[in-house]
Amino acid sequence: ATHLVWFRNDLRVNDNLALAAACRDPHAHVIAIFIATPRQWLQHEMSPRQAEFIWQHLQCLHTSLAERGIELSIHQVDGFDESVEYLKNFCEARKVDALFYNYQYELNERRRDAAVEKMLGREVVCQGFDDSVLLPPGSITTGNNEMYKVFTPFSKAFIKRLHEGLPECVSAPKAREGMLTEPDKLTAFDYPLQPVDVNLFPVGEQQAIHQLRQFCGQPVVDYAEQRNLPSIDGTSRLSAYLAIGVLSPRQCLHRLLRNHPQSLDGGTGSVWLNELIWREFYRHLLVAWPKLCRHQPFIPWTDNVVWRQDETQLMAWQQGRTGFPIVDAAMRQLNTTGWMHNRLRMVVASFLVKDLLIDWRCGERYFMSQLIDGDLAANNGGWQWAASTGTDAAPYFRIFNPTTQGERFDVKGEFIRQWLPELSSVPEKYIHTPWIWADKQPLTLDYPRPIVDHKQARIATLAAYEAARKPQ
Ligand code: FAD
Repeated sequence: ATHLVWFRNDLRVNDNLALAAACRDPHAHVIAIFIATPRQWLQHEMSPRQAEFIWQHLQCLHTSLAERGIELSIHQVDGFDESVEYLKNFCEARKVDALFYNYQYELNERRRDAAVEKMLGREVVCQGFDDSVLLPPGSITTGNNEMYKVFTPFSKAFIKRLHEGLPECVSAPKAREGMLTEPDKLTAFDYPLQPVDVNLFPVGEQQAIHQLRQFCGQPVVDYAEQRNLPSIDGTSRLSAYLAIGVLSPRQCLHRLLRNHPQSLDGGTGSVWLNELIWREFYRHLLVAWPKLCRHQPFIPWTDNVVWRQDETQLMAWQQGRTGFPIVDAAMRQLNTTGWMHNRLRMVVASFLVKDLLIDWRCGERYFMSQLIDGDLAANNGGWQWAASTGTDAAPYFRIFNPTTQGERFDVKGEFIRQWLPELSSVPEKYIHTPWIWADKQPLTLDYPRPIVDHKQARIATLAAYEAARKPQ
C-alpha cells in the first residue's frame, strides 16, 4: 500500500501524529508532499519572515525524511482550490491508497480539507489528526456541552482532563526500507521571503527541541516573575516553531512535566502551562465560532464602533513613530525581528485601538504581515482581547495608559534604549516622557512628540464604545 503524508503546519518528524500513523504499517510505501499556496498566503497576510522560516524548515524536513527513506515532494500552486486538484492528480499518479494529515482549524483550511476528502472519495482513505493541540477542539466543554466562553473555567476543566490522562508523544519514524528516488531539486516558492535572524530563531527541529529543553530548566522557574519584562529574555520564544509545527504542544507539555511535575498542580511551571492553555483556548474558540475566521468580532455590538480612518496615524504606529517610547520600541522590535514580547503586544494593540481608535482588524493584519509566529487563532484572540471585542476580553473601559505601562514594565527604559537609539541622551527620569525633557533643552530630539493626548483619546474611545453599545 502507498501512504501519503500531506505536510502543512506540522514541519517536523518527532511527535507528528499523521506521519507516525502513516508509518505504522512496516510494509507500506510512505511518501510525503507539501503544497505551497502563495496566493492564499498573500490573502492570509503571511509574513515574508514566516514564509522564509517555512522554507528553511521544509529543507530540514526534506533531509530528515530522506534519512528515513521517505521522499518529500514540494510543489507550488496558486491557492487552496488548486491544491485540492493537485493532490487528487498526485494521488492518482502515485497510486496512493491512504492520505494522512494533521488538522488545521481555520475556516478556509477546513473547507479545503473537506473538499479534498470529497474529491478523493472512496479511492483514497483519508485520516486526519488533532496534532497541533494538546486536546481536540470540542473536547473541553461546559456541562451544557458548549465551548467555554471564559478562560479560567476552560483552563480548570482542561487541567482536570490532563490529570485524567496525558496526550502521548509519538516517536519519529524509524528508517524505512525501500527505494528513494533521486531527490527533487528544491526551488523556493514564489512568495516574498525575508531573512530571519538565526541567533533569535535558529533553524531546525533539533534546535527547537534544544531551546525547549533549555527553557524548561531554569528560565521556566523564573517565568512567573520575569515574563512581563521585555528587557529580559524571560519567555521561551518558541512561538515561531509552534506556529508552523516544528514543535508540538505535547512536546512542550512533556518536557515541562519531566522537569517540573508539579506544574499541573499549580506549582513551578504552572504559569507557563497556563500560556500553553491560552493557545489551546483560542484554537478551540475558532472551531466553536468560525465567524472569528471571518473578521467578525465575538461580541456583535462592538461592530457598531465607529473607527477613525487615519492613515497617517496608522502608519506612525506601524513604523514606531507615535511619540510613546514603549509603543515605538515595541513596534521596532516587531519590524526588525518579526517577534514582539507578549506584554508589548498588549500595549501596542491597546494603543492602536483605544488611543487611536483605529479598527483592531488593521492591527491584526499588520501583525500577521510582520510576525514570524503569525497564527490566526492566537493573533485574532490577542487583538480581540485588547480591543474588548472578544470573548473573555478586557472590558471596553479598561484602557492602558501607554506611558504608565512603560514605567511599570520597562522601569529603567532599558528596552526602550535598545530599540530607540535616538533617545540615548534622554535621562532615565524622562525616558518615558522624552518630550518633557526635550522642552527644557536647547536641542530638539530626533523623535516625534506624542501623536495623541492620552487623556482625551481615552474619553473619545469610551464615548465611541458606549455609543456602539446602546441599542440602535
Ligand atoms: P511564552 O511566554 O514562552 O509562551 C509559550 C507559548 O504559549 C507561546 O510560544 C505560544 O505558543 C503560547 N502563548 C503564550 N501566550 C499566548 C497567548 N496570549 N495567546 C495564545 N498563545 C499564547 N501568539 C502567536 O503565537 N502568534 C500570534 O500571531 C500572536 N499574536 C498576538 C497578538 C496580540 C495582540 C497579543 C496580545 C498576543 C499575541 N500572541 C500571538 C500571543 C503571545 O504574545 C505570543 O504567543 C508570545 O509572545 C510568544 O512568545 P513566547 O514563545 O516567548 O511565549
